[in-house]
Amino acid sequence: MSEKKLQLYFMEYSAKQEKSIGKFGAIITCKCPNCRQGDMFQYSLLGNLPKFNKLHDTCPKCSYSFHPEPGFYYGAMYFSYGFNVAIMVSIFIIAQIFFQPTLIQLLIAVIVPTILFVPVNFRLSRALMLHLFGNLDATDRK
Ligand SMILES: [Zn+2]
Repeated sequence: MSEKKLQLYFMEYSAKQEKSIGKFGAIITCKCPNCRQGDMFQYSLLGNLPKFNKLHDTCPKCSYSFHPEPGFYYGAMYFSYGFNVAIMVSIFIIAQIFFQPTLIQLLIAVIVPTILFVPVNFRLSRALMLHLFGNLDATDRK
């Protein structure tokens, strides 16, 4: 196989790889909104939990900036708030229907999972913010 054909083969292969993950999958797995391959965060969630908030400056694969403007991620707090309310209300309703807990039990049952979900919540909120408002021009996507 000539070098030119080999190069074309790899270009087609990488184009297929790009399309293999959808926008929703890219948000859930915190991938770059541009190429959907590069990781937004420097460390895996399970590998290094204390550094769960370390975000790359640019995409390791395509150099797309993960910091479109100063203070961009303040808006992610609204998503985070929404996720927290969803978690708390869900647990409250399930606990009330199935267990009828006392007030202290209910507070513990609501607060502990909310704290445990902080890393996941933080990452999903930032990924959602970047994917929705990252000012990505769809025509630039290769
Ligand atoms: Zn990228």
